[in-house]
Amino acid sequence: CSLSFSDIEISRSCIPKPIDQVAREIGLLPDELELYGQTKAKVHLSALKRLKNQPDGKYVVVTGITPTPLGEGKSTTTIGLVQALGAHLHQNVFACVRQPSQGPTFGIKGGAAGGGYSQVVPMEEFNLHLTGDIHAITAANNLVAAALDTRIFHEQTQNDQALYNRLVPSVNGVRKFSEIQIRRLQKLGINKTDPAALTKEEVNLFVRLDIDPATITWQRVLDTNDRFLRKITIGQSPTEGGFSRVAQFDITVSSEIMAVLALSDGLDDMKKRLGRMVVASNKRGEPVTTDDLGVTGALAVLMKDAVKPNLMQTLEGTPVFVHAGPFANIAHGNSSVLADKVALKLVGKEGFVVTEAGFGADIGMEKFFNIKCRYSDLRPNVVVLVATVRALKMHGGGPTVSAGVPLPKEYTEENLQLLAKGCSNLSKQIQNARLFGVPVVVAVNAFKTDTKAELALVVQLAKEAGAFDAVECTHWAEGGKGAVALARAVQRASQTPSNFRFLYNVELPVIDKIRIIAQQIYGASDIELLPEAQEKVAVYTKQGFGNLPICMAKTHLSLSHDPEQKGAPTGFILPIRDIRASVGAGFLYPLVGKMSTMPGLPTRPSFYDIDLDTTSGEVNGLF
Ligand code: ADP
Repeated sequence: CSLSFSDIEISRSCIPKPIDQVAREIGLLPDELELYGQTKAKVHLSALKRLKNQPDGKYVVVTGITPTPLGEGKSTTTIGLVQALGAHLHQNVFACVRQPSQGPTFGIKGGAAGGGYSQVVPMEEFNLHLTGDIHAITAANNLVAAALDTRIFHEQTQNDQALYNRLVPSVNGVRKFSEIQIRRLQKLGINKTDPAALTKEEVNLFVRLDIDPATITWQRVLDTNDRFLRKITIGQSPTEGGFSRVAQFDITVSSEIMAVLALSDGLDDMKKRLGRMVVASNKRGEPVTTDDLGVTGALAVLMKDAVKPNLMQTLEGTPVFVHAGPFANIAHGNSSVLADKVALKLVGKEGFVVTEAGFGADIGMEKFFNIKCRYSDLRPNVVVLVATVRALKMHGGGPTVSAGVPLPKEYTEENLQLLAKGCSNLSKQIQNARLFGVPVVVAVNAFKTDTKAELALVVQLAKEAGAFDAVECTHWAEGGKGAVALARAVQRASQTPSNFRFLYNVELPVIDKIRIIAQQIYGASDIELLPEAQEKVAVYTKQGFGNLPICMAKTHLSLSHDPEQKGAPTGFILPIRDIRASVGAGFLYPLVGKMSTMPGLPTRPSFYDIDLDTTSGEVNGLF
């Protein structure tokens, strides 16, 4: 199963159906659709309202073994599976996938639309601007950053009365609080609506957010891998003299607003979350929110179109939602709740929605269950766990690989011993999925170098480890046809009762929740909180955020905190370096190691190969 065409050549060879035809086929009404050209459309949330009495379809989450640089193929399997279910077994089906960041598209990873004959098309639309959601997030995020620094500047350069006059200006002799200002007054316990009635002390409380610059957690963002923005000094112009501070840019997809988009279940919920985001503490140690900055309404305006899921299709013409793409370490790494909800209604009771969770099952899947499903109230029916022979060999102790160098023979020749050893990782991830009470189907994504005996060994060991079923699939080389056995296994698994349960109760103390994840999912013997993390536990508990779910920011390359530890390590102590909060999105994120929130470019970035044919207008070189 080797291909003679690149991903973009395969994508281009397919003539996609007009997207309004796809929309008609799945039962969307014309006024629920907002076309962005011929191949993309946004779907109005009114569809959810219209279909509210329709029963949900079956909910399938695709996850994987612990990732290796060899690639496992979760996106490719997600698309292959829906092509099999939809185009070959004639089921109502939807795939819900994340929108990729443009940073890696031009950097190291290339595209994320799947691969081979299992792709979302047109892949260049998918991988580039799509419908502008990421740009909207950049705009919204940076509005908060500008509001924050400017507010500090104004507070420090004006007295209370001058600030009050500007914040509550007199228009034709009348002063009036805006809606957002009335909310702030209520938060301060000032139940007055007449601006003239505030006492001097109340004016002082109202106009001064008193932000402690040392506590600012809000950063500026950009969707480009630009390592030189990892640490910068802002405010160096003489017009801001004396207000310069060290800050940073992060990649846009790591913005809390991306996580908010992914976890919101409607416009109103998104607006509330956008207003709850904590950007810093004041000098009394209380949280300062975006609502305090007065920016909530403007953020909702900037995000009003981004909240609508984007409709596309697979190579075999089945529908796909591409919506939201939060980081899988400092955020939860799953596509949007809204896309899943609309899709589950559209496919109906007997249909299937296949959604993808980032990284391995210890990260993306754990967060899918404990964070996404907790907020969405959706209950999954089946876990599909993707594994490859090559990656399992690396877990068994196979050599590391380097870009641009041919693969060592361990990965290209049969080696059952290495493979059997590496299946410890597969077994542990199967057990992790079973902790949530959901049946697991293992998809063995076949590569051309895999031997029959190797593929059979993975299937056998997966079943022995408690998988409901395990099947070899060839959807990368053959499209949906190569995943029909997988699709049938998923159908069978979806008939079994799912006894879904969360791993922890959110009301437990923060430390207990982290320990449960570390011990039960990662295999740690215990956790160790470094001083900064201990301090944050106290701060967040005091601020009232202790009952949020936990979003671990851990390396994806090992079940432990050490990326070199392959397989299924046990007996280690998981260090918690620090803890941060995404209060609007709704989780605390403990930092297990150093997490880069701004990737860099490699020596030979993907953009070397990306080009535009100026005669045909075709994009070349994306893979
Ligand atoms: P993940 O979602 O796990 O990161 P992807 O589905 O994006 O992985 O696949 C990673 C890369 O591996 C893609 O370039 C894809 O085309 C390629 N790939 C996936 N499955 C196969 C396969 N069976 N044979 C060859 N290449 C594959």
